Amino acid sequence: MPVSKTILLIDDNAVNRKILARILSSDYNTVEAENGKEALNILKSGHHQISGIILDLVMPEMNGFEFLSIVSKVQEYKNIPVIISTANGDEKNEIRALKLSAWDFVSKPYNPKIIKFRLKNAIERSQLSAFEQLKYLAEFDTLTGIYNRTRFYSLTHEMLISNYKRKFVIVRFDINRFKLINSFYGSDEGDNLLKYIAKKLREMCSTLELASYGRIEGDVFAFCTLYKGHNSISSTIENLTSEIKHFKLSFDIVLTYGIYVIEDNYDPVDTFLDKAALTAKHIKGDYVKFYEFYTPDMSLKIEKEQLITNMMNDALNNEQFIIYFQPKYNLATNSPAGAEALVRWKHPTKGILPPGEFIPVFERNGFITKLDQYVWEKACQYLRKWLDAGLVPVPISVNVSRVDICNPNLVDILFNITKKYNIPTNLLHLELTESAYTDNPLAIKLMLKNLHDHGFLVMMDDFGSGYSSLNILKELPVDVLKIDMHFLSGAEIPGRSETIIAAIIRMAKWLKIPVIAEGVETKEQADFLSQIGCEYVQGYYFAKPMPIEKYEELISNKKPEFIEPEHDGFDISQILRCDVHIEKIFCKTTQPICIYEYSNDTIELIRVNSAFHKEFGFGDMQAFVDVLKNVHNDYRQRLLDCFAYAVKTRGSSECEFLQNYANNNVWIKLKLKYFSFIANRHILFGILLNITSIKEIDEEIDKYKTNILKNNQNINKPAVNDNAVSKNEEENNNYDVKDINTPKMLSPS
Ligand code: C2E
Ligand code: CA
Ligand code: CA
Repeated sequence: MPVSKTILLIDDNAVNRKILARILSSDYNTVEAENGKEALNILKSGHHQISGIILDLVMPEMNGFEFLSIVSKVQEYKNIPVIISTANGDEKNEIRALKLSAWDFVSKPYNPKIIKFRLKNAIERSQLSAFEQLKYLAEFDTLTGIYNRTRFYSLTHEMLISNYKRKFVIVRFDINRFKLINSFYGSDEGDNLLKYIAKKLREMCSTLELASYGRIEGDVFAFCTLYKGHNSISSTIENLTSEIKHFKLSFDIVLTYGIYVIEDNYDPVDTFLDKAALTAKHIKGDYVKFYEFYTPDMSLKIEKEQLITNMMNDALNNEQFIIYFQPKYNLATNSPAGAEALVRWKHPTKGILPPGEFIPVFERNGFITKLDQYVWEKACQYLRKWLDAGLVPVPISVNVSRVDICNPNLVDILFNITKKYNIPTNLLHLELTESAYTDNPLAIKLMLKNLHDHGFLVMMDDFGSGYSSLNILKELPVDVLKIDMHFLSGAEIPGRSETIIAAIIRMAKWLKIPVIAEGVETKEQADFLSQIGCEYVQGYYFAKPMPIEKYEELISNKKPEFIEPEHDGFDISQILRCDVHIEKIFCKTTQPICIYEYSNDTIELIRVNSAFHKEFGFGDMQAFVDVLKNVHNDYRQRLLDCFAYAVKTRGSSECEFLQNYANNNVWIKLKLKYFSFIANRHILFGILLNITSIKEIDEEIDKYKTNILKNNQNINKPAVNDNAVSKNEEENNNYDVKDINTPKMLSPS
């Protein structure tokens, strides 16, 4: 009978040790230690030939991490596989243990089968002979311990052939900007991430009916499993991604997946992976999609992209890239207020190509950095020319690609270009697309400060195209907001996009950020924008992008208007930002406070403090926005009168009203104070008091009084009919709310 191997169980909890000892008793001998120190002594004593260790992490004296860090450094013990026993989902500790060379994990409560399986695997791996080590190296990826490319190919091929009647899907994925992770955090951290991904991939595949998986190379992984429809594989990928994102880095880990549904199981595996790779390439740089299914036309697209890539350097050297200008206007005065530089490719045979055809390609292959710098330089050359001619130049805004933003030298590059042509930096405006801000807000914030310190003006381009809310404006000091009418048109509810645009413009005004509406195509749009107080416009209705000669003609003899953020007077943005003193008053006050907008008999709730939420709930804020909607019919006019009075007197007023929200009747006492007039709307503060219980007491007292009165009257009456009393009571219950409290107007302050 072969001698059983010995496993060292390290856990301060005796019950856990006993459970493990019992699970392993049929296959192994066990020795136990209460903490790392005791375990080290056992190893040092040499009494036991230890083949594997199961280690708890949290222990007195010497915890699991300390123990691991010692053991992993000692040549003698290094090869003993250490399996960590963790609480389920204890990602942080798992990652830390992986960094200290833990071999595997088992989670509590223990699953005997899994423990034995993992232990056996780990011991086998640790005890391979030299030949086997070589074989292991040939089949397994040494860093992550999962199958390498060769073994993945052969396993996948075997699986596909032996299940030739079933349909499979292959998924290839890699980490976006993995090189940056390595250079920012060091290659050790990069390795840890790869190990972590391998672990998650293995865990995920072990739950699938049939699957092969492996690390193909570098940061590229793949798996192949049964195809059960697009939805099924999509959700597998989404789950895997969210698992991987638990590996906390201050860097957003983005994975790109290419998916190929296998048509012929007998084809070579590398052709499947090529197709998956092509698919992944197709969405690289796409900030919304992170996985995509292969379609045959992708090959064509990639070919076209390759063609563009082959031509781009020559095109730049031969000055095939030219700049068009699209003026921006001050809507009120119709004067030019700047122009956007938009690049065009004047192709010798294809004519003028719009940027949509090549910019996305350049963003993927990195050439955009070169092209943008070329455009910035050209813009400065033109500005120089106009300055030399004694003109007051209209500022030019240039686009700064998302890719440029990753460049730590961006500010220096821009500044050096303006210096080279001796251009005041405030003449070169920078347009950064909205989604770039959400990618890495902290880095952007620092960069914006740096740009401001150098005198550049920064516009947030395409606002409304991404996911950022107006909140982002409170955090990031952009100078100008560009909203594209396109992104907001086509809303399903008629008038909805107008409401959104109006709200954005109003909010921007509060923050004193000028807004440029771009993509203005019709007179109706222009009129609407003017009504809601939008100051600047850009769009085909006013002027299309045009070559330099035409643009020069257009602006000659016109006095430009500079787009500049306002910095005067009281900074209402403080109220929205919830900072400094206002923070204390608004956010910390225990009484519900609201900010209202009032115009033409509509009252909208713009902001509330946390006390408001406490009092009235955290439900759908949208339901609160239209204030009158929730007010009892009989009280709407009273509330409107109260607002009208405060507005008329620019002072204060107060009233009581009955509100019904979520089928709850609530009595509110409102004190209003006029604040200001912004973008055609009056802004008012309101302090709210929930007086429902006071009203209830009043009501009881009233009833009581009425009864006393009645009884007094009845003393003189001969007999009382029961029904008559109850009817009376009913009437009392249904008291007429109209009688209570008429609005009280305070004198203006
Ligand atoms: P963008 O920065 O949002 O530029 C505005 C786009 O809207 C321009 O398209 C402009 O011609 C178009 N446009 C302006 N008014 C109207 C209108 O009323 N109706 C319609 N339908 N479109 C209007 P363009 O020139 O084709 O540029 C497309 C995008 O390519 C730009 O969008 C920008 O993201 C990018 N781009 C252009 N030039 C450069 C550049 O030099 N560098 C970088 N990185 N990107 C550039
Ligand atoms: Ca732009
Ligand atoms: Ca834009």
